[in-house]
Amino acid sequence: MQSYDGVRVVVAGAGVSGTAAAEALRDRGAEVTVVDARGGEGVLVSDTVPAGIDLVVTSPGWRPDAPLLLDAAAKGVEVYGEVELAWRLRPDDAAPWLAVTGTNGKTTTVKMLASILTAAGHRTVAAGNVGLPLLTAVLDPSYDVVAVELSSFQLHWSSSLRPVAGAVLNVAPDHLDWHGSMAAYADAKARVWAGETSIGNADDEVTRTLLSRAPGRRVTFTLRPPRVGELGLVEDLLVDRAFADVEGEATELATLGDLSVSGSHNVANALAAAALARAHGVPATAVRDGLRAFVADPHRNAVVATVDGVTWVDDSKATNPHAAAASLAAYDHVVWIAGGLLKGAAVDDLVRTAAARLSAVVLLGTDRQPIRDALLRHAPDVPVVEVARLDTEAMSEVVAAARRLARPGDTVLLAPAAASMDCFRDYKERGDLFAALAAP
Ligand code: ADP
Repeated sequence: MQSYDGVRVVVAGAGVSGTAAAEALRDRGAEVTVVDARGGEGVLVSDTVPAGIDLVVTSPGWRPDAPLLLDAAAKGVEVYGEVELAWRLRPDDAAPWLAVTGTNGKTTTVKMLASILTAAGHRTVAAGNVGLPLLTAVLDPSYDVVAVELSSFQLHWSSSLRPVAGAVLNVAPDHLDWHGSMAAYADAKARVWAGETSIGNADDEVTRTLLSRAPGRRVTFTLRPPRVGELGLVEDLLVDRAFADVEGEATELATLGDLSVSGSHNVANALAAAALARAHGVPATAVRDGLRAFVADPHRNAVVATVDGVTWVDDSKATNPHAAAASLAAYDHVVWIAGGLLKGAAVDDLVRTAAARLSAVVLLGTDRQPIRDALLRHAPDVPVVEVARLDTEAMSEVVAAARRLARPGDTVLLAPAAASMDCFRDYKERGDLFAALAAP
């Protein structure tokens, strides 16, 4: 464990992780100054690093081009994030990390992993970008392994993490404004691979290419029948040919019926979670039991009502086109509710791929036009209703329109492909309003 005694540190950001970082550093004898543009008691407002500072620990939300961080770089002051700090504060005998990153599916996968590890009798917790802050998890001696979710922001600000096994689920354009380019975003994701086993999605081209440069033992997962070195699907069986009980053979892990979540994206998430658990020596029966016990978090492909033969599904967490594409692929006849803040992402591919499944579309939010234009190009005969108002009341109009448009056998799917903050507090409020209004 690294010593911070007498080290003069600026903690950038007075949010949850910044406050936890400041406390942990002070406990270890560091001299800490907290900087935040919002100010507050004991908080400095500054765009420059004060003289004599040895280190800046930044919160993940801070963009790399924030003036304070640029100033640190110009002055040659080291900068890293609270995840890196947690790693450096781990006691020497600390629990190993099994880590997950990716554009979409992180929370689902890390919680599946925690469920599997628990079924195997481990004392574990989901931590990091979800659940418990990593600083808390690493300092708690009661865990024997930690299921870690890492965002691209957290990975960007990390340099020496060594999770024993790391998995990349997929890499699709998101947060490019923050990272500056797709290459920088992908490089951040690839930092999850630094330990003994590097796991990646063979069905995702960007991930596959990145994995070819990863250190350690490389293992892939796929929705196809697996080759040696892969986990995959054989009809309705989840099968392991990487950590098989007899080398080169296949070990059956679970069946699709063991999963309570819908969509092939969730099968991929289950295979990734299984791969991480198997890399840690978990037996096949515990993979099955953990997947059976797993319950998805709200707003992720959750059935919230079934009325007159129409199923209403809340996937409000589909906040980018890649997520919405996975979601749409899970249902055959869809009244699709889409729109919000697209964050500059393109929707043409998404609409083209989904076109054949669309019964109707209801558009809401600020960025309706790119979706409307793509629909005109790829699905000109699909009825489209637009809701123009930009407040929470928009959802009443959206649901009323969806109810008019839906026929028995349809799924009304809230998978907006966009962020929610133009009309709602967050994706949770958007999903909760949808669910409440969908109920008969
Ligand atoms: P994250 O933590 O990465 O945001 P979640 O598990 O919360 O991921 O899932 C967010 C949304 O992403 C889901 O609601 C679903 O629409 C979509 N999704 C989940 N898993 C995948 C996947 N493996 N590939 C593509 N999209 C996915």
